[in-house]
Amino acid sequence: MIRTGDQYIAGLEAPREVYVGGERVEDVTKYPAFRRPLDSYARLYDLKHTAEFQDAMTYTENGDRFDLSYLVPTTHDQLRAKGLAYKTFSEASYGCLGRGPESMAALVAGLSVSADWFDQYEKDGGQKVTDYYNHVKDNDLFVTHALGNPQSDRSKPSHQQKNPYLHLRIKEKTSKGLIIRGAKQLATSAPFADEVLVFPNGRQFVPGDEAYCLCFSIPTTSPGLKLLCREPFVKEDNLNVYDQPLSSRYEEIDALLVFDDVLVPWDRVFFHSSKEAANNMRFMTAVASFAGHLSIQRAVVRSGLTVATAMALCDSVKTNVFPNVGEMLGRIAAMHKAAEALLYRAEEDPRVAEDGVYYLNADALTAHGLLFPDFYTAMLETIKRTGAAGLMLTPTSGEFRGEVADFANTYFAGAEGMPGEERVQVAKLAWDLAGGPIGQRLVHYERFYIGEPMFVASFFSRSVGLDDARQLLARLLEEGRKYLDEGFVSL
Ligand SMILES: Cc1cc2nc3c(=O)[nH]c(=O)nc-3n(C[C@H](O)[C@H](O)[C@H](O)COP(=O)(O)OP(=O)(O)OC[C@H]3O[C@@H](n4cnc5c(N)ncnc54)[C@H](O)[C@@H]3O)c2cc1C
Repeated sequence: MIRTGDQYIAGLEAPREVYVGGERVEDVTKYPAFRRPLDSYARLYDLKHTAEFQDAMTYTENGDRFDLSYLVPTTHDQLRAKGLAYKTFSEASYGCLGRGPESMAALVAGLSVSADWFDQYEKDGGQKVTDYYNHVKDNDLFVTHALGNPQSDRSKPSHQQKNPYLHLRIKEKTSKGLIIRGAKQLATSAPFADEVLVFPNGRQFVPGDEAYCLCFSIPTTSPGLKLLCREPFVKEDNLNVYDQPLSSRYEEIDALLVFDDVLVPWDRVFFHSSKEAANNMRFMTAVASFAGHLSIQRAVVRSGLTVATAMALCDSVKTNVFPNVGEMLGRIAAMHKAAEALLYRAEEDPRVAEDGVYYLNADALTAHGLLFPDFYTAMLETIKRTGAAGLMLTPTSGEFRGEVADFANTYFAGAEGMPGEERVQVAKLAWDLAGGPIGQRLVHYERFYIGEPMFVASFFSRSVGLDDARQLLARLLEEGRKYLDEGFVSL
């Protein structure tokens, strides 16, 4: 099924332990700081019911309709259709919602593809994963995920932390399931989600860490689960969309999850206590590939918007006539096109597995994840350097409707008769992207959403496909070796 926005919000009314600023949020659907983001997520659910977007965002199976994120593609056209769905989802939020419901739906589809892998580590592990996929898909649930341990002391493995229950671990095994205690981070969208999925992020567990090796999912309403949210950047729900076009609607809240003796029923334990499973899951299952598809589509949507905004900003005061400004704009446009090209390569040069499942080109996907944060940082820096004072001198919408409206429109005017309210609108968007707290969070998100970039890059250096280049290198070295004893020779 596909839920409507209202059905999604109604599901969140069930009691759960969400904390902001030390106080319990009694009803997440009514909390001012959550209301606008919640509306934005609800809109994504509603769009799946519209004539305009239904075909792009959903598919049918045995007479039922589902979010396309759940589809396991077995043709190239299906892989492309998923790409279009992610583009459509991303455009609906201007690429600002990285962890909307479709994001984890994609990841859970990746889990289901790898169901057999779980059988080697957990009795009926594969079946449990498949049942979970069907449960989430059939009920169109919103899942959040928390993979990392609290930062605490990164120089020590989990079992050597001062408090053995700081990192999430098994406290007890019972006939009903595992009792777990400790914390996991960082769960984006946790207060807006129905389920939390916990699995290892690829950091290597060492002997002694067995109790910390866990993969499971439970409802966010589970007794003992506490969601400790970071301070919201936008605390009220009355920001004007003219003034803060993105911040007013798209703040994804992040949370630390504390599991205070929480029961995970056996049917939701996908594996436990296995270092081998924990250390390999990220690399041996389809979760990263499936989730990555949405991520790179979203990144390209937002980078296009960001470059277009930078250009509009410069055009508004005609700084784009200067070659130095033109060069900066040209460079970030090239970065956007490079990101687009990697996305194209990922989708158009897929890998087809033995079971017929289509995967994105893994090298292009990882290259995108590793390069995009630097591209995006350069885009924001260009906005700041070219926008200069214009990014600060941005009055509110009130100035253009109040008693100084004429002055405001005259003196905030742009080039070629552009009224002040139009020029300021572009500058406000530019600042929301490049300077405001939401923009800063988004660039931080781009840096870290794939996991610690250092580990990803290091793994990439060992897995990247370079056969042609290596053969060329071998030929060149071979050629040179023939001349080892020759000294200088003319060819
Ligand atoms: C905005 C945002 C949203 C996020 N959303 C989610 C989410 O929804 N779900 C989720 O699970 N995670 C999420 N994350 C977490 C993200 O996956 C992590 O930030 C990322 O994996 C890096 O881990 P860390 O933050 O714990 O950094 P750390 O591991 O603490 O690293 C900090 C620094 O120390 C270095 N370092 C750490 N350990 C080592 C080591 N062993 N050897 C060498 N250097 C080391 C790192 O290179 C880095 O420079 C989010 C993060 C951000 C910023």
